[in-house]
Amino acid sequence: MKTLQKKERMTAQKSFILGYLKSVKSHPSAEIIYKEVKKKLPNISQGTVYRVLNNFKRKGDIISIDTKDTVHFDADISDHAHFICENCGNVFDVIDECSKCGILKNKRTKVGAINSYKINFYGICKKCKR
Ligand SMILES: [Zn+2]
Ligand SMILES: [Zn+2]
Repeated sequence: MKTLQKKERMTAQKSFILGYLKSVKSHPSAEIIYKEVKKKLPNISQGTVYRVLNNFKRKGDIISIDTKDTVHFDADISDHAHFICENCGNVFDVIDECSKCGILKNKRTKVGAINSYKINFYGICKKCKR
């Protein structure tokens, strides 16, 4: 009985974490995800959040974006590129601009067909430039 309860709680925590990540476009770090999830699930531990995120990542339910300082997570697993601001560290989606590029549109190179890609652009975001 006890193990079942534990399992149920784990499932609820998992779906809450995934639900949170799907609801934001901000590509939060594990630390921020933990802080946000903790507001609703005060008993959750940081270790659980990190473990759940890694499991989702391994299963391909979410993707991670590595920046200089931290790892960001994204529940949008469709092919898209990211812009990482070198000043504030925020991660932005780059979708429309990239779809016009021949390689990304046709998913083909001279070497072979592309199954997936991971592109990071680095620069200073509009907000920081002001
Ligand atoms: Zn910035
Ligand atoms: Zn993204």
